Amino acid sequence: MDLDVPLRPPPASAQLRWRNRFAALGDRFFTELPAAGLPQAHWVAVSEPCAAELGLPPDWWQSPDALQVFSGNGVWPGMRPLASVYSGHQFGVWAGQLGDGRALWLGELDTPSGPRELQLKGGGKTPYSRMGDGRAVLRSTIREFLCSEAMAALGVPTTRALCMTGSALPVRREEIETAAIVTRVSPSFIRFGHFEHFTHTEPDEQALRALADFVIDAHYPALRDDPSPYAALLEEVTRRTATLMADWQAVGFCHGVMNTDNMSILGLTIDYGPFGFLDAFDPGHICNHSDHSGRYAYARQPNVGYWNLHALATALLPLIGEQDAALAALEAYKTTFPEALLARMRAKLGLRTTEAADNELVDGLLQRMAADRADFTITFRRLGRFSTAPAADNSAVRDLFLDREAFDAWASRYAERLRRENSHDAERAARMDAVNPKFVLRNHLAEAAIRAARDGDFTETMRLLKVLQRPFDEQPEQAAYADFPPDWAQHLEVSCSS
Ligand code: AMP
Ligand code: MG
Repeated sequence: MDLDVPLRPPPASAQLRWRNRFAALGDRFFTELPAAGLPQAHWVAVSEPCAAELGLPPDWWQSPDALQVFSGNGVWPGMRPLASVYSGHQFGVWAGQLGDGRALWLGELDTPSGPRELQLKGGGKTPYSRMGDGRAVLRSTIREFLCSEAMAALGVPTTRALCMTGSALPVRREEIETAAIVTRVSPSFIRFGHFEHFTHTEPDEQALRALADFVIDAHYPALRDDPSPYAALLEEVTRRTATLMADWQAVGFCHGVMNTDNMSILGLTIDYGPFGFLDAFDPGHICNHSDHSGRYAYARQPNVGYWNLHALATALLPLIGEQDAALAALEAYKTTFPEALLARMRAKLGLRTTEAADNELVDGLLQRMAADRADFTITFRRLGRFSTAPAADNSAVRDLFLDREAFDAWASRYAERLRRENSHDAERAARMDAVNPKFVLRNHLAEAAIRAARDGDFTETMRLLKVLQRPFDEQPEQAAYADFPPDWAQHLEVSCSS
């Protein structure tokens, strides 16, 4: 036996220093419990950009115990798994106590990008699982993983996804599927519903204040010395939520389940379930098959964001004191959202200056797109090649519209508007390509990755991930991922079942 074989260096994980600031809030806020791990777990995918954001080396997942930790079968020293309690309004109705029914907080890391919490989703039952089994299926796990990373690459505030593990463990949904776990990463997983819990379900002003102070201290430190810190917190969350809604609308993202327990106190996109990106433009598009009334339809999202902020304001009222102060904090929405949306739409049209009639120009295009069901992503991407030259051939974008005359009328207004700001076609094209993605996670792309993964082939998931990580790049060899949805995609139904 050769005793001189060098010892393997300790895995990177051994050097990670975990903190548990949320756990320090005390046990009114959570229940500590270990995950119920996946039997005979295997890796499904890892996100290198997410690992890089955490300061982990690209091969971090190859450390021998990483698979055990991220399939819920073990913890690294310093991790303290817990499920938090929250409440919420679901589909506009008070739902009472909810909580992390299948998510487990592992702890918090100090990373080059700031503090980041890690959470397993699908790690078994918790005291808050209600009727659920605490599991997540491979299908929904792949969707959450891909969309988290796609949204980050699009520049939309979001929780991230570090990795996915899977198992043959059967899980019953509409049919039998298999279990998986996605590891989510976020500066905080606190939701509006955490505050609602301590105002409505278990009224406890001390706990409410401790939670608000914790959020301010850890995530809104500039508000620490504000004379009215809780109203200031509400106003800041209002602004962030308003700009998030503008981001969603501008990129054609539909969340699908904008319940108050799915609203991040940091204004991040959180809880990817029956989400969808617009294909053919329909402002009334409902991405969630379980949303029978269309409460969360695309065009309604900004109003729902505002409604949800009212629920947060009500939850914070015991701390804010004056109802007028709470209402004043919410006022920020009425200016922040329209301004943020118009700024994004101007950028999508390649406009650098502002004119009073820009709103009408934007609406004019959206009306044409809705009337002719033009593809949202493809229309804006092709508009980047719009030429202002006299008698230019703009057929690539024009051909997306059935009513060519109506499009031409809009296009001539657009061309005049561009000429007034001396727009240079090539420069504008580059600018527009940097804000109008070529690649978004359309349902049929996720579905193809899921079908392959069910057969044990995860290469399509990784290939799609790589494409979505560069959504604004031309990537000509990946053109198929930027195409119109195939006919079979019309029959895809995405519901709350995950
Ligand atoms: P969602 O609509 O996915 O945000 O979930 C709403 C609530 O139901 C949350 O409290 C979840 O933790 C819980 N939940 C959803 N699915 C499950 C499941 N399979 N097992 C346990 N709890 C679940
Ligand atoms: Mg949720």
